[in-house]
Amino acid sequence: MEFKQIQAIVDETAPEGKISKVDVEGPKVILYTDDIAYFVENDNEVRNLASSLKKRIIVRSTPDALMEPEEAKKAITQIIPEEANIVDIEFDENFGEVRIEAEKLGLVIGKHGNTLDEITKKIKWTPKLLRKPPLQSETVRSIRKTLFDKSKERQKLLKNIGKKIYRKPDADCDWIRVTPLGGAQQVGRSSVLLQTPASNVLIDCGINVAAQDNDRFPDFRAVKLAISELDAVVISHAHLDHCGFVPYLYKYGYDGPIYCTEPTRDLMGLLVLDAVEIGVKGQNELPFGSKEVREMIKHTIPLEYGEVADITPDIHLTLYNAGHILGSSVCHFHIGEGLHNMVYTGDFKFGDTRLLEAANYEFPRVETLIMESTYGGRYDTQPKRRDAETVLLDSIKKTIARKGKVLIPVFSVGRSQEVMMVLEHAARYGDLDVPVYLDGMIWEATAIHTSYPEYLKKHLKHRIFNGHNPFLVDNFEKVEHRKRQDIIDSEDPCVILATSGMMTGGPSVEYFKAFAEDPKNMITFVGYQSEGSLGRRIQNGLNEIAVDDNGKTKGLKVKLGVKTVDGFSGHADRRQLLGYAKKINPKPKRALMMHGESSKTMNLAMTLYDMFGFEASAPKNLDSIRLI
Ligand SMILES: [Zn+2]
Repeated sequence: MEFKQIQAIVDETAPEGKISKVDVEGPKVILYTDDIAYFVENDNEVRNLASSLKKRIIVRSTPDALMEPEEAKKAITQIIPEEANIVDIEFDENFGEVRIEAEKLGLVIGKHGNTLDEITKKIKWTPKLLRKPPLQSETVRSIRKTLFDKSKERQKLLKNIGKKIYRKPDADCDWIRVTPLGGAQQVGRSSVLLQTPASNVLIDCGINVAAQDNDRFPDFRAVKLAISELDAVVISHAHLDHCGFVPYLYKYGYDGPIYCTEPTRDLMGLLVLDAVEIGVKGQNELPFGSKEVREMIKHTIPLEYGEVADITPDIHLTLYNAGHILGSSVCHFHIGEGLHNMVYTGDFKFGDTRLLEAANYEFPRVETLIMESTYGGRYDTQPKRRDAETVLLDSIKKTIARKGKVLIPVFSVGRSQEVMMVLEHAARYGDLDVPVYLDGMIWEATAIHTSYPEYLKKHLKHRIFNGHNPFLVDNFEKVEHRKRQDIIDSEDPCVILATSGMMTGGPSVEYFKAFAEDPKNMITFVGYQSEGSLGRRIQNGLNEIAVDDNGKTKGLKVKLGVKTVDGFSGHADRRQLLGYAKKINPKPKRALMMHGESSKTMNLAMTLYDMFGFEASAPKNLDSIRLI
């Protein structure tokens, strides 16, 4: 839709004289009014406008109508009951918003939203509510502060993006094609280019942490497309193999938006910044720095699940829950006014976990499905989650009974919180009474989880809202650097969750070295260990490990117990992949397999053809496929 059409629809639909100006900020339509009270009282008018435009709209007071901030602050504190425990009130003049952070948001909102309406009518600012998170995340705090401080710059940027989205399309949509730039017949550096005559959209932009040289990054050079010509970037989730290369785009001329969920933005900020810092210290320096990471955050436009957003003149995007990690999305693209619909699953889980609901499988329309196939091989069936939990707990209990320590190397986002929830459940039912130490970035990643309870499984969300936050039970303890040695020296049994998950560095390696020689101890793997990693070597029966002893190398005998528990993966296994292809509604005509070793992607493609009659294939990187 072009901007002038938006203007025309507003002129026709809006009540006479109530809208003084129409603007766009990214995909959102902003309607300015001198009489916000009218729209508070007649909220059907707002719904009417939104449904005529088929867009997210924001009705906002004109700057002149806003009450003075000092006076407005007084009014807010008078209207909101004291028991709501307001933590902070901040005014953002650029967006006409007042951010109210409080402990009990229910009291700020009031019955049927009455309190909130009263505030808006009185002060004319749009209230934006923030729940005080039960655990303070440094990442969430600093991202919110940066966005607040840069609000003027950000508004300018959003207006420019909006102008490009609602421009007259350069050409009619008479072809659509996709080209994998990475992550096809492989795992790592996921990236797919979606193109029409009017649009260049990049879906995911990851790095392959384990690879060397050019195989580490998506292959932009081969497609001969200037990075500045991209219109939009969509990120399915925050794992580095899906988003780790995004800052590079800002170094080489991209100035456009990134679409993802809010938790993905924050987790992405945490993980990508960490990768930059590790890179600077070690061998694998990334071709960008923290400045570009900040640009990435500034350009992110968060979308909620189910929200339809115009991202180019001929592509609409909707994100749905993918069940893989917090904020992970299955991305639906509605292309060329309904000419074609494509679903890109990203990484997904189609089964029960303790943290998240299973991936969404119902869409308005689907013609092409791009599906991950990490566990797409013929024999890639994982044990049931319940059985995996029993095996994990039994092994922990045995180790504790013999006064040993259990080390579980985990990736900071996803597996850590899953295992925490299993341990919390055990502790709640008296099955575990030792401390659980969390070392590495796990605590910070957990704090980000508790900042977004609405993205967690229903029952978990309710527990957090009702003040029974399972992440805050007494057993869990964050390890500050000094404490690590105390834990190592102590005789007491305990469980330790530590990064990195594949023992390529970080505290998990330190604990392992300290515990290796004592057969009472146990190391338990719950996640995939890649070829060549220390984790894989331990799984394969490593006998001795070289350690540094005051400048000299000495050999440590590995005598501790080694256990691998399958079934905790955040990916759909073979059964779930087939289950998803069976259940996805409506049925796609074509299916493209990505994100898997080549034999697995090809085997899965063949099976989908045999079972469901999909036109299924497993493209290679740089194979362009015409969808229309
Ligand atoms: Zn992932």
